Amino acid sequence: VATPNLRLTGPTPLPPQVREAQTRQMVSHRSAEFRALLSSVLARLAPLFGTADPVVAFTASGTGGMEASVLNCVRPGGRVLAVSIGHFGERFAQIARIWGAAVETWDVGWGSAADPDELARRIRAAGRLDAVLVTHNEGSTGVLNPLGPIAAAVRSETDALLIVDAVSSVGATEVRMDDWGIDVVVTASQKALMSPPGLALVAVGDRAGAVARSNPAPRFYFDFARMIAAARDGMTAYTPAVSVVYALDAALRIIEAEGAAAVFDRHRRHAAACRARGQKAGLRPCAPALHASPSVTAFALPAGIRAADVRQRLQAEHGVVVSQGRGSWKDSVIRVGHMGWTAADELDAAMDALGEVVGELGAGVDVASPLEANL
Ligand code: PMP
Repeated sequence: VATPNLRLTGPTPLPPQVREAQTRQMVSHRSAEFRALLSSVLARLAPLFGTADPVVAFTASGTGGMEASVLNCVRPGGRVLAVSIGHFGERFAQIARIWGAAVETWDVGWGSAADPDELARRIRAAGRLDAVLVTHNEGSTGVLNPLGPIAAAVRSETDALLIVDAVSSVGATEVRMDDWGIDVVVTASQKALMSPPGLALVAVGDRAGAVARSNPAPRFYFDFARMIAAARDGMTAYTPAVSVVYALDAALRIIEAEGAAAVFDRHRRHAAACRARGQKAGLRPCAPALHASPSVTAFALPAGIRAADVRQRLQAEHGVVVSQGRGSWKDSVIRVGHMGWTAADELDAAMDALGEVVGELGAGVDVASPLEANL
């Protein structure tokens, strides 16, 4: 079977060096050798978060990191403003609600970015807040929130902690946690970091660390203070996903060799190319151009064409694997991933195939108003 052209929103394809690194033999995760490796990986991740604060690694997917942030940074009954621009924003709000926080959700609407001025107004109207939850790159819609201005709005209006889900943005675009005044940034190994799933990577700022230390809320595995203390010694509190640490080391070497700025540029170029090709094929990007995600492009399909059919034919006939929409967009939206290890010719091939499949499926369908009906 030919290697599939994996254009998912995650997990993303592994470069050969990363594939090889993760097959290495186990070592003791308390050995000097592993401690040196983990310390190096966590220190080299920090610039991608734009922070001098500690980055810790929980063995979990990104959602585990989101939950950990809430458990540590929000007291039960604490007041939270959740800014939701799509599926993953709704998930963050749900985590906080289930945790017992008093959550107010600002539903910005799927396909839009949050407007910083409107956010400032909502924060003023909300009164005292303990935390604001924001998604940087909304994978369900392909919208990149303007995180710098959003953080500035939060910082100008409240002392609440700003907790950011950057699962599909760290490594794909600039994140400046310290400069922008963000307290917690969460990402995961299997997205732009080109590694297998298995590690939730969380940068914890001073203020968040202080809240965590004094927060009486029950938690054990996901305790920030214990993890930060362990990380100081090059360790995790519990057995980590050792192979994923090997993989991240190799992936970071690739990113370092290319240079972060060049990596981000490449992501922007791929996103623009993907969007343009999709539009040429009669697909409507769900995100406005100004807020187009560097890591995933979501397209509304012409009315009458089902996303499941497109996905299935792309895979069976072209070896191209894409993601479907989430939630109410499941049947009408296709999402194409272009984060991490993406070659321009692979992306072009995937978009050619997508155009072909949509053309074939659309042939029998009345597409008098193809761009309107699906959203
Ligand atoms: N948040 C965002 C913005 C994401 O893109 C994703 C993954 N698609 C998640 C959270 C969930 O991450 P995971 O599947 O690693 O738990």
